[in-house]
Amino acid sequence: MKPVFRSRGDFRWEGIEVLPYKPAGTHFRDISRQLLFGSEDGLGCELRYFEIDPGGHSTLERHAHRHAVLIVRGAGRVLVGREVYALETYDGVRIPPWTWHQFRASAQRPLGFLCMVDRERDRPERPSPAELEELRRDAALAEFIRT
Ligand code: MN
Repeated sequence: MKPVFRSRGDFRWEGIEVLPYKPAGTHFRDISRQLLFGSEDGLGCELRYFEIDPGGHSTLERHAHRHAVLIVRGAGRVLVGREVYALETYDGVRIPPWTWHQFRASAQRPLGFLCMVDRERDRPERPSPAELEELRRDAALAEFIRT
């Protein structure tokens, strides 16, 4: 592998494929994934770039592994646990283990972020109907959550 791979501008990089966020599903919308660094680099972690189009969102999920996120484009909001936070470019986000989380781009701007994650990790879990009902008892969460 070459030591340097070039930016092609607009958050694309030479030799890096723009991939679907996840296999097809209805629990996310308008989001792409690029694996920038990972197993081919001999690392125990991966660094991915995700981009959510205006109005789109990631899956509401939780899991044992952590995420370390740095917003590098646009603006949006994130649910971490039971709090919704506004996000601007260059903000950082920590997702602890077993904590509900969901990212949403703003209506007008995309939300692009770098996400560091363990290479070996457990599969995300989505809320059960009972868990979803419990989360939605909080009006702010009910407004925010997309499933
Ligand atoms: Mn996650």
